[in-house]
Amino acid sequence: ARRIGMETVSTRELLMDRELERWKKIQLDKTFTSRMIFEKEGPTMGTVGAVAIDDKGRIAAATSTGGTPNKLPGRIGDSPLVGCGTYADDFTAGVSATGWGESIMKVTLARRVCDLVERGYNALEATGVAIVYLERRVDGLGGVIAIDKDGNIGYSHNTPYMALAFSRKGETKVIMSE
Ligand code: ASP
Repeated sequence: ARRIGMETVSTRELLMDRELERWKKIQLDKTFTSRMIFEKEGPTMGTVGAVAIDDKGRIAAATSTGGTPNKLPGRIGDSPLVGCGTYADDFTAGVSATGWGESIMKVTLARRVCDLVERGYNALEATGVAIVYLERRVDGLGGVIAIDKDGNIGYSHNTPYMALAFSRKGETKVIMSE
């Protein structure tokens, strides 16, 4: 971003009071694990994902995360790992994931959704099957959004909440607002 001259802001400006308070609370309980955070609150850490397809069938996916609290500095989550939190392939689907990163990484969740589309599932079926697998295989918690090569939209989550919306030909629809 710096190289192409994008304006940057200080880290303090990115810090929300709500998150700072939550972080302070978590420090008091040494047994608090990231799984408990996702169980209690769902993926509310500030992760935003997007998937898109254009009129030429080119698919893109993006994931921006606030991370997970109480991790060692330098921890790399699933979001920037290709195939885990994010994946796009014009032949199958575009996928973005949120949730408990350690479990998402173990099953390379985003790539798994694409593989299911390759096997004939549409985006909705593929995201559903992938989340069931995440839960059964590694006791994971998370959610995914996807768009497949035919333009079908898919989403699934086993966390309490996952806000999502889609836009098609100028029409925008909020599916879940929390
Ligand atoms: N998946 C992210 C991580 O583990 C967190 C999230 O989606 O809220 O870093």
